[in-house]
Amino acid sequence: MAEHDSRNTQKITRRHWLRSTALMVAAGAAAPLVFVGNAEAASKMAKTAVDYQDHPKGKEMCSNCRLYIPGSNPKGPGACKAVAGAISPDGWCNIYIPKA
Ligand code: SF4
Repeated sequence: MAEHDSRNTQKITRRHWLRSTALMVAAGAAAPLVFVGNAEAASKMAKTAVDYQDHPKGKEMCSNCRLYIPGSNPKGPGACKAVAGAISPDGWCNIYIPKA
């Protein structure tokens, strides 16, 4: 009986070890994705911090800013190297840098 319990304990331990190892591998694989996501969010400024607006300020607009990254549709939202989130090509913020 004691031997049977010992084997069961060993099986549970081995199963537990395998499950734990699988979870650690999965967590290790996911960790860089989480870190990259947080790093990107942390490295970009919030729209509110730069007074972002979704319309131009005179002739100044995201589509002619050096930091703008166009989307797949030129009239659709793109991204910004400095500001987080979807960026309208017609938008503007207070760190606007005109293209040279
Ligand atoms: S820095 Fe400001 S103006 Fe320039 S693309 Fe980014 S959000 Fe638009």
